[in-house]
Amino acid sequence: MLPGSNHKGIHVEQIKIILKSGKDQSVRRYHPWIFSGAIKKIYGSPSEGDIVDVYDNKDSFLATGHYQPGSIAVRILSFKNEKIDYDFFMGRFKKAFEYRQSLGLTDNNDTNVYRLVHAEGDGLPGLIIDFYNGTAVMQMHSIGMYRLRNEFTDILKNILGEKLQAVYDKSEDTLPYMAGIKGTNEYLSGSPEASTVTENGFTFRIDWISGQKTGFFIDQRENRLLLQSYTEKRRVLNLFGYTGGFSVYAMKNASLVHTVDSSGPAIDLADENVRLNFGEDDRHKSFRKDAFGFMDDIKDKYDVIILDPPAFAKHNNVLANALQGYKRLNIKAIEQVSPGGIIFTFSCSQVVTKENFRKSVFAAAANTGRQVRILHQLSQPPDHPVNIYHPEGEYLKGLVLYVE
Ligand code: SAH
Repeated sequence: MLPGSNHKGIHVEQIKIILKSGKDQSVRRYHPWIFSGAIKKIYGSPSEGDIVDVYDNKDSFLATGHYQPGSIAVRILSFKNEKIDYDFFMGRFKKAFEYRQSLGLTDNNDTNVYRLVHAEGDGLPGLIIDFYNGTAVMQMHSIGMYRLRNEFTDILKNILGEKLQAVYDKSEDTLPYMAGIKGTNEYLSGSPEASTVTENGFTFRIDWISGQKTGFFIDQRENRLLLQSYTEKRRVLNLFGYTGGFSVYAMKNASLVHTVDSSGPAIDLADENVRLNFGEDDRHKSFRKDAFGFMDDIKDKYDVIILDPPAFAKHNNVLANALQGYKRLNIKAIEQVSPGGIIFTFSCSQVVTKENFRKSVFAAAANTGRQVRILHQLSQPPDHPVNIYHPEGEYLKGLVLYVE
């Protein structure tokens, strides 16, 4: 049900939040979060996930959004005074779909996996939807969005029509802790016909049920393609390999590809994905090992090294440690990559800025004393758009280095 409204979207009760003087500035610049410290008064007693209206302290309307007790108190859905009803969400979903359509992602024989909804980037804070060749995997990060999962399933059916076979809700581990509501991992509709997808012509088995995140790191699609252009006849080391995304692209023309991940299921999946594309091919080997330990003594065995670790920092209070982690990792790679070698190095921590990440890599390079050039500065692809008013949405950062 749409909270605070019946199914037709008629508001039943309106909850009003008044901001402290001066705290309206970021909202007027369309930033989609209201922090709890900015609130002067709440009229009514909103439950988590209710729709609330936000006003400045002179009683001018500012925005409407989902309420949540905690540091981010309101996730804004609209800066217009409009009803947040079924049609509202239908409109936002349609825009998200049409945008991907304009990117050529929705009817593409080479790629049938893409992100359909990217939270704030699509004006839908708290909601992620990834499309895997017929199956939409939804991940809700707010109770406001979680409560609407059945409406969203309906909307997806409406927009995707025959393209949609199943909708899977994977919110068990993503709902805010405060809520006391346990999310679910379950099919909300249909059952999948395929568990493989095609990305740039390569086949990948996706395990959205027990895999990490929604099952696949779609956000590296364009970076994987770029990697491929650097791997011809090269010896490639893919650290933190997960499904073997980078490894599969590299296998196209590398002389050797080694995948390292500390997780057994990840290694199995990487092996399977290489097999799906190249059959039994002894150019590929996988290692279930800690990436840091693996690099202790690789000397100049590799010409291309990929470092795509999990988010080292999930919160600002561990930022310094995370930056040290990136530095340590990059020192090992820069020190040992063969002369003329290439390093693809990434950070997907939202709290690590582009500048901070670059400083860590710079510090790592300086530590080794080798000559290093930056060839590319990478980010996330356009199906993971960054809302210009929400710079926090730019979470994926990468550098491609040439090491003399
Ligand atoms: N590059 C991947 C995504 C990486 S996700 C892709 O393109 O799909 C991060 C991966 O790092 C996970 O699979 C996790 O199991 C692995 N991991 C986490 N800590 C690790 C460690 N210390 N050593 C090796 N792998 C690790």
